[in-house]
Amino acid sequence: MPEPKQPEKLIDEKGLRIDGRRLDQLRPLRLEVGLLDKADGSAYIEQGKNKILVAVYGPREAHPKHIAMPERAVIRCRYHMAPFSVDERKSPAPSRREMELSKVIRESLEPVVLTDLYPRTTIDVFIEVLQSDGGSRCAGITAASLALADAGIPMKELVAACAVGKIQGKIALDLSDAEDKYGDADLPVALVPNMGLVTLLQMDGNLTTAEFEQGLSMALEACKTIHAMQRETLKKKYATVKEAAEEREEPEIVA
Ligand code: ADP
Repeated sequence: MPEPKQPEKLIDEKGLRIDGRRLDQLRPLRLEVGLLDKADGSAYIEQGKNKILVAVYGPREAHPKHIAMPERAVIRCRYHMAPFSVDERKSPAPSRREMELSKVIRESLEPVVLTDLYPRTTIDVFIEVLQSDGGSRCAGITAASLALADAGIPMKELVAACAVGKIQGKIALDLSDAEDKYGDADLPVALVPNMGLVTLLQMDGNLTTAEFEQGLSMALEACKTIHAMQRETLKKKYATVKEAAEEREEPEIVA
């Protein structure tokens, strides 16, 4: 994998990072839902330079039939990086990393989806990373839970995710690709805020117990901020849908 150019320092004398952020600052976040007509639900996320599109199909009849579960829906998830999503062309074939990420993302979403309402069906979640810049599994989870909601799939809550890490010996929120590569540790976290449930917790690198606790609480706070933005994104869409429906219902004025 080609490495991004190593920056001289990850934190400057003023305590700012290479993209000008403070240690506890998220990258700019943009969320959208319902942009694909052909999928049952969809969402798009930009988190810093990450650009990720998610499409959801289902619940629909399970194919092949032998994967069907008699008492619940089966969630299938595919995290995939487009060949043009990184500096050097990535093979479009699924890598071991993509297979692992597909599994952990599915496991982070499963606890909130009311799968027992739809026995013998599948729910397919396609996460397409168009441009990647660190923290893409977390951005993928945030967008995937929005796309599930956009598909009208009953859920207990939305899942929000964000990574935290250690760069130049300091705990920092929402690492970019260079910070991830040249930093000391990376800790992706997914949270269901209103249930207080952590559905993803991984760690790459080493942290002391105190650093882990500081990082985890920083990531959980960031997940709550992201969760509020997810809710706003969904509300905004339904306000637009309601307005359009009301306009259609306006009686015609005949002169
Ligand atoms: P995450 O994106 O969740 O942080 P990783 O920690 O595994 O996942 O990867 C960190 C970053 O490394 C990715 O976001 C991406 O920018 C970069 N990366 C991953 N796979 C490749 C690849 N095949 N080629 C170039 N860069 C890659």
